[in-house]
Amino acid sequence: MSALAYVALGSNLGDRRAHFRAAWEGLEQAEGVDVLRRSPVYQTPPVGPGPQEDYWNAVVEVKSERSAEDLLALLQALETARHRERTVRWGSRTLDLDLLLYGEEERDDPALTLPHPHLRERAFVLLPLADLLPHRVLRGRTVEDWLARCSLAGIVEVANPWG
Ligand code: ATP
Ligand code: CA
Ligand code: CA
Repeated sequence: MSALAYVALGSNLGDRRAHFRAAWEGLEQAEGVDVLRRSPVYQTPPVGPGPQEDYWNAVVEVKSERSAEDLLALLQALETARHRERTVRWGSRTLDLDLLLYGEEERDDPALTLPHPHLRERAFVLLPLADLLPHRVLRGRTVEDWLARCSLAGIVEVANPWG
């Protein structure tokens, strides 16, 4: 059994390009994960507490032979490899990898909620997800419809982010 899964990348601390490249390469090299597509990368204003740098955000589409739990464990290992620290909730981070969607799975477990619990209200996730999957329906609306309800103020596409 394999599933199409969508992983959100976020970074606003240190060398965002290097963190993104490491995440991308980590996914490419992982057993049981095939990277299929990646969205453009967007620079987005921070939403969390205190003064923070702008984020880079993107979404990648993977075919996963791993279970959802195993895929999340891989994402967490890749975050740790970039010295992700959790001090302030929604504070600055080197690398955040969230599992947005895993096939059609829906679950409420706090350790792994699917679809990702804040997906429908976050322009910085909906925008790159809409580049890959505009017509997927989440709670009665398509990704592009959810996106149309969000403000895109301050969001710009990053030129040549992987270069
Ligand atoms: P947010 O979850 O609001 O995006 P965050 O990414 O800063 O905030 P983290 O500290 O990275 O939060 O993760 C908190 C917990 O969320 C993790 O322990 C993880 O088990 C849990 N979690 C639940 N569902 C998911 C999911 N779909 N993807 C990633 N983590 C998840
Ligand atoms: Ca997150
Ligand atoms: Ca996270």
